[in-house]
Amino acid sequence: MADRVLVTGGAGYIGSHACKALKAAGFIPVTYDNLCTGWEQAVKFGPFERGDLMDRARLDQVLAEHRPIAVMHFAALSQVGEAMREPGKYWRGNVTASLSLIEAVIAAGIRDFVFSSTCATYGDHDGVVLDENTPQTPLNAYGASKRAIEDMLKDFGASDRLRSVIFRYFNVAGADPDGEVGEFHQPETHLIPLILDAVDGKRPALTIHGTDYPTKDGTCIRDYVHVMDLVDAHVLGLKRLREGRIIPDGGTEVFCLGTGNGFSVREVIDHSRHVTNRTVPMTEGPRRAGDAVKLVCGSERAMSDLGWQPDRSTLPQMIADAWRWHQNGGYDR
Ligand code: UDP
Repeated sequence: MADRVLVTGGAGYIGSHACKALKAAGFIPVTYDNLCTGWEQAVKFGPFERGDLMDRARLDQVLAEHRPIAVMHFAALSQVGEAMREPGKYWRGNVTASLSLIEAVIAAGIRDFVFSSTCATYGDHDGVVLDENTPQTPLNAYGASKRAIEDMLKDFGASDRLRSVIFRYFNVAGADPDGEVGEFHQPETHLIPLILDAVDGKRPALTIHGTDYPTKDGTCIRDYVHVMDLVDAHVLGLKRLREGRIIPDGGTEVFCLGTGNGFSVREVIDHSRHVTNRTVPMTEGPRRAGDAVKLVCGSERAMSDLGWQPDRSTLPQMIADAWRWHQNGGYDR
């Protein structure tokens, strides 16, 4: 009988791709999701349990029923703009909810935990390439809430009751090349799907948020990683935990997942024009609150220690996969 892995947020963008990768690796992914932003139709690779992370009784029940050997924790609020407007929602929805999950997981006797963190925990660092040792000085409640969860995991790791692998990544893009799952947010705030919406007329134009940043073309720079590469790293992290090849710093290990290559908003638009062979209607607007100028991270540690190979993470490939999904995929309530 295959081992089960509880995937919180398994109905969301990255979580649903993680479920596909877990199934391919021989696990049964059990999705735990309250569908606040996820889609039941994205749960295709294992059982679905609807529930909220704050609902401890429901969590206990699901853990007892499925007896997962590990947890992958993706469920989170993740919009920077919303986090600036409603910080309390992020501290409660991310930090308090994760504490509830961690305590339930430990009570169920599960020791292995893979956590989806973010380069938003770093804040601005004057354009340096970020790595696992860069100080974390987040600019917004989203990044701050994720950093707090990392701290929590380190404390639980040091207490020897939980072992965690923490992944920090930022701009996830692309879609399952088989078209089974893809990116579908409502509302959509991410650059590539918004560009594709503008390309095929679903919205009038893309607004570039800020053209006066101190970068080569005035727009923000980000490091884009293919969602399939990203979830591969999660499976490798899980295997590392299961093999007990762990861990300095109590029971916690951190890996940055990026390509080390930064692309400006204008460069992403240019690549999108080439991939789709269509014009990208756009306007220039003011900066978006909470945005860092440049976020690029190296991933030497993930490559050397996990054997991670981000081989789909070129911008044309990510945009092409996203475009295929955009034209053929999508979910509706
Ligand atoms: N961006 C933009 N217009 C949009 C959405 C995003 O110019 O409609 C920019 C945003 O300011 C950032 C980059 O695109 O510099 C990536 O933003 P996204 O929201 O995709 O990811 P984030 O970096 O915030 O996680």
